[in-house]
Amino acid sequence: MTENHQGRRHHRAEPRWRIFLRQYRFELIWLSVVALGVFLILERMNIRVTLFRWVRDGISAAVHAIEHVDNVILAFVRNTTLSDAIGYVLILGALVAIAWRTRWRLMRTPSWTTIRCPQCDSEIHRVHRRVRDRFVGLLIPVNRYRCTNRECRWTGLRVTVPSRRRGHPATAPK
Ligand SMILES: [Zn+2]
Repeated sequence: MTENHQGRRHHRAEPRWRIFLRQYRFELIWLSVVALGVFLILERMNIRVTLFRWVRDGISAAVHAIEHVDNVILAFVRNTTLSDAIGYVLILGALVAIAWRTRWRLMRTPSWTTIRCPQCDSEIHRVHRRVRDRFVGLLIPVNRYRCTNRECRWTGLRVTVPSRRRGHPATAPK
């Protein structure tokens, strides 16, 4: 990228793919961790050789010690190679990280946090949550709202942002 004296103010010329990369860098990194996990699970032949063998021996020795305790776990571990296990851990960890990041993003997205009707821009007021809303609420704090405009009657969920963050929409990604 060419530098000029204006410095940081010329991001209008920045190509879209670069903006995309910058904005979704976190997700892309974790998606590549998922890809690595899938690779480890699929690519059995090469990775499970020498380098990790001593770890596997250690694990199977530990498993052997608890053999009489739980044969189901033992069978699972015996059928799972170390590269499989690492793959599962990477995928699980990356999915959790992506989910957390998505939650973080939603809580900073004005269209999900603005307490106005998305259809007619009227005032909306809180109504009782439905059962399924509570399941959503386990993952991200939401309230159900209904539009005060009688001809609209829109109803839906809005993400409730902690009060200290409200009034700082400038921090939200565009
Ligand atoms: Zn409305």
